[in-house]
Amino acid sequence: MTPYDATPTQESLRATALTDGLGRRVNYLRVSVTDRCDLRCVYCMAEHMRFLPKAEVLTLEELDRVASVFIGLGVRKIRLTGGEPLVRKGILTLIERLSRHLASGALDELTLTTNGTRLAAFAGDLARLGLRRVNVSMDTLDADLFRRLTRGGDLAQVQAGIEAAQAAGLAVKINAVALARDNAAEIPALIRWAHERGHGLTLIETMPMGEIDEDRTDQFLSLTALRQELASYWTLRDLPLNTGGPARYVEIAETGGRLGFITPMTHNFCEGCNRVRLTCTGTLHTCLGQEDATDLRAVLRAGADDADLIRAIAGGVDLKPRGHDFRIDRGSAPSVARHMSTTGG
Ligand code: SAM
Ligand code: SF4
Repeated sequence: MTPYDATPTQESLRATALTDGLGRRVNYLRVSVTDRCDLRCVYCMAEHMRFLPKAEVLTLEELDRVASVFIGLGVRKIRLTGGEPLVRKGILTLIERLSRHLASGALDELTLTTNGTRLAAFAGDLARLGLRRVNVSMDTLDADLFRRLTRGGDLAQVQAGIEAAQAAGLAVKINAVALARDNAAEIPALIRWAHERGHGLTLIETMPMGEIDEDRTDQFLSLTALRQELASYWTLRDLPLNTGGPARYVEIAETGGRLGFITPMTHNFCEGCNRVRLTCTGTLHTCLGQEDATDLRAVLRAGADDADLIRAIAGGVDLKPRGHDFRIDRGSAPSVARHMSTTGG
């Protein structure tokens, strides 16, 4: 198979920009390149996960083709995620292909979210291929807790990955899921650790996605309450930065660093949502918190030309729901049946 070569022209961009039925412009695509992962974070996966057969997962060529059609439709930013994107065989080949859209100016940014376990090995290549920044997930500075939360992960390996990324010239943002029982007391130290090293840090409320082994209710930590607590001893200044997603940012005067809050459970910023998600099986989800889905793999594998794919994508985006419907009070029962690792966080 040959890689898909289309590079969108300015004319095609104007003609076909993606807008949903409520008039929201969609210009950000998250692509889950695999459902597999070398960790088993307790809030994300069950201990024993059954992963997808290879035939169900889009090939690198298929991923490139669909992503390139999205770029033709005006998507300006792509984030690769998973599962763990750096465990996908051939990930650098995919990144290299997608980077032609950076070179042509059709894409503003190509980036990824990683658990960092393989970042030390990949950082140099990622920087060489045009990535400017990466998000690395790290919920604690305590090696034992890290091992427990990830069911076996090695914190030192992740921190070496963060250092390698920084040495390669990549900006690093740390993502941490706020967990009432596990890391709540440690969050100020985590923020200080990140800011001392020049990294931003974003806190995420746990979202009820997929069956896991724990009850999420008693792990849920409201970031609204946490923010109030931080503001009792730090000076938080709201930043106007809005990436079209659920994150809101402040600068902490005392640390000089940026702190983000992703609060899908206590706030809903869906009216400005600019993003859609493509799973590794080629399913388009236009909302992380709803079951809506468009099967692009079936269209692709039926021998679709670009016009067919564009029709399918535009049809799915047109139906993008007004907003999510997450509720934490369902205990361990998920609001959305699919795991975060399948949809791509
Ligand atoms: N494996 C990569 C990683 O961990 O960064 C990328 C995929 S992971 C699904 C993306 C992000 O989703 C991570 O920051 C992770 O902490 C977060 N995440 C996973 N499950 C979640 C959940 N149930 N609620 C909130 N965030 C979750
Ligand atoms: Fe893997 Fe990321 Fe999910 Fe953790 S959060 S299990 S690292 S996909």
